[in-house]
Amino acid sequence: MSNNIVVVFDFDKTIIDCDSDNWVIDELGFTDLFNQLLPTMPWNSLMDRMMMEIHSNGKTIEEIEKVLQRIPIHHRIIPAIKSAHALGCDLRIVSDANTFFIETILKNLGISEYFTEINTNPGYVNQQGRLRILPYHDFNKDSHGCILCPPNMCKGLIIDRIQNTFSEGENKRFIYLGDGIGDYCPSLRLREKDFMMPRKNFPVWDLICKDPSLVKAEIHGWCDGEELEQILIQLINKIIIEENAQFISSDCKLQTLSIPVHETLPKALSVRP
Ligand SMILES: [Mg+2]
Ligand SMILES: [Zn+2]
Repeated sequence: MSNNIVVVFDFDKTIIDCDSDNWVIDELGFTDLFNQLLPTMPWNSLMDRMMMEIHSNGKTIEEIEKVLQRIPIHHRIIPAIKSAHALGCDLRIVSDANTFFIETILKNLGISEYFTEINTNPGYVNQQGRLRILPYHDFNKDSHGCILCPPNMCKGLIIDRIQNTFSEGENKRFIYLGDGIGDYCPSLRLREKDFMMPRKNFPVWDLICKDPSLVKAEIHGWCDGEELEQILIQLINKIIIEENAQFISSDCKLQTLSIPVHETLPKALSVRP
C-alpha cells in the first residue's frame, strides 16, 4: 500500500527526545571541553574535534555505540513511525546530527528499514578507529547561500531537492516535523497543500510564531511523542480521505455514496499558533 504522502522528520528532539551530539558528549564526560570550544568554531566542526579528543582520551567506538544505545526516546515515537509507514507514507530524515549516530540509534531501535532516506552530515570510523564527522555541505569549497541556516547544512535546500524528484502530476503532500532553528528554513519551502508540525515552545515554534503567515503549509504544533503520534496519524488519514474523495468524484461516482465523505474528516485541530 502506498499513498502520496512524504513525511520528513528532523531527528534530534523530534524522533529522539534529546540532542544526540550533546548526549554523547555529556555521557562520555566531555561537556566542559565542549562548552569551552563552542564559541570558537561551527558546531559541526566542533563535533569532529570532540571525536578526536574523545578518541585520544582512549574512548572506543564501542563505548560511543553503547552510549547511543541508551538514548532517550518517547514510547509513542516508534509506534507513530510504524503506523505512518503501514499507512503507505514515504518516511525520510533530515538532520544536522550525523550518519553514524543516526544509523546506530535506528538500528538499535529496529526501525532502520522504515526510512527511505537519511540526509545528514557524513560520519564514519577511520583507520585509527576514530569517528570523523564531516559537513553535509562542504562550506570550505563554497557557501550554500542560505543566511537562515548553519554553514554545513541548509535543510530548505534538501526539501527543495526532495520536492524536485517528484513531478507536479504526482501531487506529493509533505508533512514536516521538527523542533530546531534549522527546521525553520524548510518550513518556508513547504507549499499550501503541505503540513508543518513544529514542536511547541521549541525554537522553530518561536520563529514561526513571529509571523505565521510566512508559512504556506498548514501548521499543527505538538509537545511530546504522544501528541506527535496523534496529530501525525490524524493528518495522514485526513489526506488519504481527501485523495480518495477526489478519486471518487473524478470517477463521477460521488452521488452513489451513501455516506458524505467529508463528514468522516477528523475534527479541525488548533492550527495557527
Ligand atoms: Mg532537532
Ligand atoms: Zn536554509
